[in-house]
Amino acid sequence: MRAKERQSFAALVREELIRLPAGKPCCMLSEISALTQTSGHLALRGGSGLSVSYRLEDAGVARRLFQLLKKRLGVNPSLHFTQTSRLGGRRLCVLTLSGEDAKSLLDALHMTETDEYGQMHLKRTAPRHPMTRQCCRRAFLRGVFLGAGTVTHPEKGYHFEWKAEDEQLLRILGKLLEKCDLPFHTYQRKGQQIVYLKGAQQIADVLALMGAGQSVLQMENIRIQKQLRAMAVRAANCDEHNGERMLDAGHRQAEAIRQISLKQGLFTLPPTLQEVARIRLENPDLSLKDLGNMLKVPIGKSGINHRMRRLMEIAEELH
Ligand SMILES: [Zn+2]
Repeated sequence: MRAKERQSFAALVREELIRLPAGKPCCMLSEISALTQTSGHLALRGGSGLSVSYRLEDAGVARRLFQLLKKRLGVNPSLHFTQTSRLGGRRLCVLTLSGEDAKSLLDALHMTETDEYGQMHLKRTAPRHPMTRQCCRRAFLRGVFLGAGTVTHPEKGYHFEWKAEDEQLLRILGKLLEKCDLPFHTYQRKGQQIVYLKGAQQIADVLALMGAGQSVLQMENIRIQKQLRAMAVRAANCDEHNGERMLDAGHRQAEAIRQISLKQGLFTLPPTLQEVARIRLENPDLSLKDLGNMLKVPIGKSGINHRMRRLMEIAEELH
């Protein structure tokens, strides 16, 4: 039962993402590029020439990619299904682009060049395309998740990961996550690089970045339930009025911060406020004085008061 629940949270996120609008042309290309790097295979066949095929486990993801390719590049992928013994006989969807369609894709992803005689050459075997805009970074992170990502059920713990099959994808992911201010870690599993995020807030941020707002809400609900259960236990042990008041204020602040996180993402806040926000979210019962002491550069009561007021104002403005 547990395993099934955990799996269904990743599936829920995927389902939400594949229903998102295709977006702007620049973002469509970023998502196509990401899916090409996680699930695309380049083949050179005698006679028929170049082809690019995508192998996808999820039919919904295949459908989205089909639409992105068609809409952005005007190409017509062919679709067939194949059974694979590697995945325990599971069915894979295979989308294939060949001939001129494959060429259009490789051109768009800057994988080809044309010489002075007008002859097309393959320049590189992996897409390279600039992602200077925030909208494109979000689309790329979404594409890598759809092609090679998963997330643990929040009831079980907080772990979100992307599989990076090659060094180039690993490098790109690292750069994008740095630009988005998301602290990440990497490790190797069966010869593959895994890029992962820990911590409820970071995971909520990345889900929001990718456009999975409903999943963030779902995750926050589970989190609130967990906190409420813990709070009920504490309240039962706490008969001092003063303590209760402190508890109330802290939880009101945590709730306001949660609203900021849901509506615009904590990564949009200045770093000093972000730090205070994350610590308050994790520790709703802490007094302001203790909270100030937990900062990287500890500050006194008036300083922390000031920052908390700013956070409450920002939350207020969101209403
Ligand atoms: Zn874009």
